[in-house]
Amino acid sequence: MNLHNLALGSKLAWKMYKYPQKIWCKILSRKYLDSTKPERIFTLANSKGGSPIWRFIWESRRIISEHLTWKIGNDKKARFWRDSWNGDTPLAEAFDDQDWVNQVEASVGPFVADYMHQMPKSTTLIIWKKVGDWNQANGKKLEELLINKKKIHYNCEEDSLIWCVAKSGMYKVQLGYELQRHREKDTKWPGALCWNKSVLPKAGVFLWIALHGRILTGERLKLSGISCPSICTLCKGDGEMTEHFLFWCPYAKQCWDWLLGCL
Ligand SMILES: [Zn+2]
Repeated sequence: MNLHNLALGSKLAWKMYKYPQKIWCKILSRKYLDSTKPERIFTLANSKGGSPIWRFIWESRRIISEHLTWKIGNDKKARFWRDSWNGDTPLAEAFDDQDWVNQVEASVGPFVADYMHQMPKSTTLIIWKKVGDWNQANGKKLEELLINKKKIHYNCEEDSLIWCVAKSGMYKVQLGYELQRHREKDTKWPGALCWNKSVLPKAGVFLWIALHGRILTGERLKLSGISCPSICTLCKGDGEMTEHFLFWCPYAKQCWDWLLGCL
């Protein structure tokens, strides 16, 4: 998709989230999302068919969805472990022991609000509930992570999503366009390596296929009319795209880090 169109399509996704009361947003939300949860526009994993305008918005939204964080208010939208909030990566990603994370989540709750003690509205410091033994390694680590997050303005507004790229937290088409343009420039494909003698033939062919955008990812299969879930099988992230599993997926990043560390 053309970069300008992508940036404009993202604007429509942002409007669906920020202004759900607009008539066209209401119509699309009622048809394709849960109209009480407009934030789902950024997390909806599968979009079955739909009108051209809906497909356009759904496919464009990634400029926004990859840079979102929750501003914590006083309700239950931001998930404590699974979502980015207060500008940080999701807490669950900091822990190797996912069983412990799942246990705590099951006993305390999934939302940030479940972990806060009720405080007067004017308070800007959060007192976190104790969710385990702080002396144990996991508890200690969580306590340290939460200490950095204590300066949250606790208020009676709803939790709201902000786009981290803009200071205002609001999506801007120009910024979205620039962001995507730089990303594409940064991820320039090494096409010359495809048929290089020093590269394994199967690796060269794979690179050539990737270079031409012909890898059968979930996103590509959907474009061909084949209905299948478009979820990364490694990180369970939304949207299986070539760039995701080669560069942006946390697992791919680990591989690149390892490889670069060996050089
Ligand atoms: Zn992934």
